[in-house]
Amino acid sequence: MMKWHRMYALLLLLMIVVRAGAQQFDAYFEDCTLRVDYIFSGDNRHQQISVDELCCSKGWFGRRVNLGHLLLRGNGQIVMTDTLGRDTLYRHSFSTLFQEWQTTEEATRLWRSFENVFLLPMPRTAVNVTVSLTDTHNRVTSSLTHRVNPRDILLRPVGREAQTRWRYLRRSGDSREKIDVAFVAEGYRKGEMRVFLRDCRESIEALLAHEPFRSMADRFNFIAVMASSPESGVSIPHAGEWRNTVLGSNFDTFYSDRYLTTLRLKRLHDVLAGIPYEHIIILANTENYGGGGIYNSYLMSAAHNTRSRPVVVHEFGHSFAGLADEYYYDDQYETQYPADTEPWEPNLTTLVDFGSKWADMLESDQPVPTPPSGRDLYTEVGVYEGGGYQSRGVFRPSQECRMKTNESPVFCPVCERAIRRIIDYYTEERRNP
Ligand SMILES: [Zn+2]
Repeated sequence: MMKWHRMYALLLLLMIVVRAGAQQFDAYFEDCTLRVDYIFSGDNRHQQISVDELCCSKGWFGRRVNLGHLLLRGNGQIVMTDTLGRDTLYRHSFSTLFQEWQTTEEATRLWRSFENVFLLPMPRTAVNVTVSLTDTHNRVTSSLTHRVNPRDILLRPVGREAQTRWRYLRRSGDSREKIDVAFVAEGYRKGEMRVFLRDCRESIEALLAHEPFRSMADRFNFIAVMASSPESGVSIPHAGEWRNTVLGSNFDTFYSDRYLTTLRLKRLHDVLAGIPYEHIIILANTENYGGGGIYNSYLMSAAHNTRSRPVVVHEFGHSFAGLADEYYYDDQYETQYPADTEPWEPNLTTLVDFGSKWADMLESDQPVPTPPSGRDLYTEVGVYEGGGYQSRGVFRPSQECRMKTNESPVFCPVCERAIRRIIDYYTEERRNP
């Protein structure tokens, strides 16, 4: 009997907490989306942020809980405050292709610009929006603050009617309470949408075959967005193949042959306007191997390669959960993760602040660093040297993981917990923020 009482009390408390989150949302925000388009430009030493355009649309499909709190720092942040800068109304973190490009050779000799699109809940009154970018030492490298007035006559309404055909593939509930993941077709002609829908279902199956997605599947809605392309397939520059596709994507991003991305973020969000979406998975109609995933931006994966299923799951680890790559190269040191800074990604450490990572998941007799044993490849939590492209100075939690190889059937326990935490962050108000 006691047990039931306690469970009931706990449930009641949870309902009050969730309700409190909803009330807080309604106090500051309309049920509408403010879309902010920025241009980030620069070279390897300079960054410039410019506002491009502001749009609005009906419905807000992002999180309605933990509004002022961040779970992960990301490589950049957007903060919405009242106009006096006293109250933080909403926070969002992200990574960008622009910052990745800044580390390439091309950036030493060229100034380039990149589109970036962010979705924010529409404030009820005027607010300040600050967008800032940080470097690998977690120092702010550039920042821009601008005022947004929800009654500004130049806020362009978009998506009054969806421009693209779409349908639910798996609906767990109201989009206000669930995490809405949209699959977008890239390089499929009108007559190929059956193939696209089959590809979406295979990807959902692959995701839900992994914990914690399997046991938390009821927190997600999956949507298929049937954007059709004039031509079939996607562009493969190293093979001299160019295709006219709806998102203008290509392999060879930054001259890396497997790196498949689109730089047309505005086009992507135009295609999605009027559809309930929050996280984006772009499936590319190609057999060529490759993909890419950018935290809180999108993931893109080839749909018809034998390794497409693990790639979709791996890239979703990047784009949805902010997980880092756990693989490494023998000849790279200190490129992305300097020894004096703890990375923000939950599945890597430089041991600067290991207590904030998975120290609580280690057996007390586990040596740090942990020598590889060849046993318990996926399940034994340790501190193994090598990760984040660096063989030295960066440590990963497990010998093998979905974030390390396509052959791994699972996420390691630390990645699994990190994904669980982000799913909770999107769907449950934290009791002790
Ligand atoms: Zn892992």
